[in-house]
Amino acid sequence: MNDCLPTQSPLWQKIEGTVKDVISAYGYSEVRMPIVEMTHLFRRAIGEITDVIEKEMYTFEDRNGNSLSLRPEGTAGCVRAGIENGLLHNQEQRLWYMGPMFRHERPQKGRYRQFHQFGVEVFGLHCPDVDAELIMMTTRLWRKLGVIKYVRLEINSIGSLESRASYCKKLTNFLMQHEPVLDDDCKRRMHNNPLRILDTKVPEIQAILTDAPKLSEYLDDESKQHFAGLCELLDEAGIQYTVNEKLVRGLDYYNRTVFEWIAESLGSQSTICGGGRYDGLVEQLGGKATPAVGFAMGVERLVLLMETLELRATRHVVDVYMVTSGKGTLAAGMKLAETLRENIFGLRIMMHFGGGNFKKQFKRANRIGASVVLVLGEDEVAKNEVTFKILRGGEQRTISQDDIAEKLGKLV
Ligand code: ATP
Ligand code: MG
Repeated sequence: MNDCLPTQSPLWQKIEGTVKDVISAYGYSEVRMPIVEMTHLFRRAIGEITDVIEKEMYTFEDRNGNSLSLRPEGTAGCVRAGIENGLLHNQEQRLWYMGPMFRHERPQKGRYRQFHQFGVEVFGLHCPDVDAELIMMTTRLWRKLGVIKYVRLEINSIGSLESRASYCKKLTNFLMQHEPVLDDDCKRRMHNNPLRILDTKVPEIQAILTDAPKLSEYLDDESKQHFAGLCELLDEAGIQYTVNEKLVRGLDYYNRTVFEWIAESLGSQSTICGGGRYDGLVEQLGGKATPAVGFAMGVERLVLLMETLELRATRHVVDVYMVTSGKGTLAAGMKLAETLRENIFGLRIMMHFGGGNFKKQFKRANRIGASVVLVLGEDEVAKNEVTFKILRGGEQRTISQDDIAEKLGKLV
């Protein structure tokens, strides 16, 4: 679990600001859910035989003996909130959220125990047009953030729950023939969740899988059409993708469309965004059957990608630094600074505290990255004046305090 330090927060703010702007441009609304939910919500939504439920949740008992868990992802809580508050009943919802998620994984580059996701979830729409919109939204985002050239899109259809079930049987039969070569994880999953074996990272098992029956051969006609519809819309939009038949995604609730954005340069933790349809989840969690589709994006991995591309945000945090010297000047300076904050929208003005001579105070102003210094000595205060100096070789003048707001408004 990491601290986000002042040197890192500008990039975080830039990403957060851009994501919010892009999502809002499609008319989506923010929801905020609690960080803790009842454990059984996640068990039911995500599926028992998944990494998240088997090994990664932070689960504890509260004082009433209820089993609670820190949320490992946002979809389950979002669906729960939607059902509980009547947002999903015969309604369409286009929602987003952002916040910390928790998984007890082995920490490494791009994989942390507290990480942050932006999530988008759409309810009540079953056609592939909305799947395409979500992909277009993420494409716009990569473009805005300057990373579009460094990411690629993989898509797949995993079909209806029924067609998946019949494929899973075939896959289990196939895997049973190769049981001696499988590792323990695969052996365990082979019967409960064989689909997950498809995205294994173990080379020996990958090799076996090249001869495995193909999911696409078992797709139901409706899912095939749905997927063709998505591909057509992506083609129309000029969005490049590859169809990866082994892409299944880690959580149980997906059906039909699944997609991932991959940033190769990140190494083994290269998926920066993943999503798909989950038409069965709302009903499974106690709501009325409601089609749904969404994605989640890992903010830390996006931060890493932007850092490796040197797309750092170097926003100075201060425009104006106020230095004072002499009796009564600090109070006068603080008062003037308040007036300026009131009158100039967005002005960032920092007071010098702790005294010292002007030289020391100017040094501080430079270090902090201010572009203008305001100077108040006893003389200035007595005459209701202030001296401004534009740093790094700019002009210096003493003017009436009544005129400084207008002057600064033009300078910063
Ligand atoms: P991975 O394949 O990396 O384990 P996942 O399939 O478990 O990912 P999802 O549940 O789909 O991940 O979460 C969506 C996104 O959240 C991921 O694509 C990734 O960017 C990010 N993410 C997931 N787990 C972590 C983590 N432990 N640390 C940082 N980011 C993460
Ligand atoms: Mg994972």
